[in-house]
Amino acid sequence: MEISVIGTGYVGLVTGVCLADLGHQVMCIDIDKEKIGTLKQGISPIYEEGLSDLLKKNISNKNLSFTSDYKEGLRGKEVIYIAVGTPQAMDGSADLTYVEKVCKSIARYLENDAIVVTKSTVPVGTNEWIKQTIEGNLQKDIEIKIVSNPEFLRQGSAVYDTYHGDRIVIGSEDAEALNILESINADFSIPIVKTDLRSAEMIKYASNAFLAAKISFINEMANLSERIGANIDHVAAGMGMDKRIGNAFLNAGIGYGGSCFPKDTRAVISIAKEADYEMPILENVVDSNERQRGIIVDKMMSRFERLKNKKVAILGLAFKPETDDIREAPSISVTEKLLEAGAEVCAYDPAARRNAEKVLSNKVAYADSVSEAITEADIAVILTEWKEIKKFPIEDYKKYMKSPIIFDGRNCFTLEEAKDSGAEYHSIGRPVVR
Ligand code: NAD
Repeated sequence: MEISVIGTGYVGLVTGVCLADLGHQVMCIDIDKEKIGTLKQGISPIYEEGLSDLLKKNISNKNLSFTSDYKEGLRGKEVIYIAVGTPQAMDGSADLTYVEKVCKSIARYLENDAIVVTKSTVPVGTNEWIKQTIEGNLQKDIEIKIVSNPEFLRQGSAVYDTYHGDRIVIGSEDAEALNILESINADFSIPIVKTDLRSAEMIKYASNAFLAAKISFINEMANLSERIGANIDHVAAGMGMDKRIGNAFLNAGIGYGGSCFPKDTRAVISIAKEADYEMPILENVVDSNERQRGIIVDKMMSRFERLKNKKVAILGLAFKPETDDIREAPSISVTEKLLEAGAEVCAYDPAARRNAEKVLSNKVAYADSVSEAITEADIAVILTEWKEIKKFPIEDYKKYMKSPIIFDGRNCFTLEEAKDSGAEYHSIGRPVVR
């Protein structure tokens, strides 16, 4: 089919590339001209495994192209995906400014009937508003059908997830549009949930809110385990064997981050407020996660009276492994707190340095490897469980550090490994090893 994808971020670019790889004619549109210039050369502006190869392959076989010109990008397109950001507004609600601009551009430049598919995460009722906004600004007598197709990919495994996700959700009030979207998605061989617009929008928010709650739940159990002498590894393993609970998302740590969970949980609370309904569980999930981000620095503060002039190596800046994204990453607030306390910070991340440099204070020094970051450091803090960081042998910390003291916010090592290493090891929800 002739497809347009508007927005070439993590969701839009991966969607566009994968649809092109299925054999569709895909044109990706973005207002960021620099990004479009980079993409036209076959260079991915984001780090996602497998993306670069698929990008190059589909540009060269002419299934995929890029533009910042809406007129060119929408010409003759039958299906138009919206995949622009919906960041958090000041009041916690989803900011629909980018989506609104896209609607107006579609209305201005589209010259034929088309199905508009919303991939962006948007509050319940937004797809109806999208339809009205486009129709209200149309300059031609054409028909718009609307489908909600929320995205569930995980950054770090976005391409894999597009082909192997658990389900694809498509919602519409229009049976024909729903069937066309079903046939496009059938090629991914993933179970498809067909529903109405509002339920599709709600499935996305309810899923993210549930996952955020699961993370906060295990984090609170970890904090309690520390205080009563239990080991969260054993607790989580024992809980996860119960099929009703499941073992995914039971890794205790310093809280969730990224561009989705923090804003989506707050958006659900805001949607509920508008519906005159309180959601005490989710309000507490948000507060609990805020507190969790601070606990690794609290642990350091209670171990050392002062952090002034201490050399601290931060290992991992991305909000999770396998991505260069640092949006809402715990590393940002941890670094700020450490600098405030007068520590000297040297950070290492396999992929997120470029993004971190734009956000973090210029007082932060950067290293090119784990060993370089921890050399002569007083303290090592693990904030992202990158494979490279997990694989760096814990017994090697003493070769590089003045005296190995590790604060592990992601429980990368077992307590047995820590005991054998000779390092002082503080983790989440487990006894300290000295
Ligand atoms: P992103 O910030 O990485 O990318 C958004 C892109 O849209 C940018 O390249 C920006 O230049 C472009 N853009 C903004 N305004 C535009 C306009 N008027 N016309 C054309 N392009 C425009 O965003 P993302 O992380 O890909 O997220 C997109 C949406 O998908 C959000 O609603 C998000 O909540 C949702 N989502 C994200 C993920 C994820 O893991 N990142 C997962 C599921 C759902």
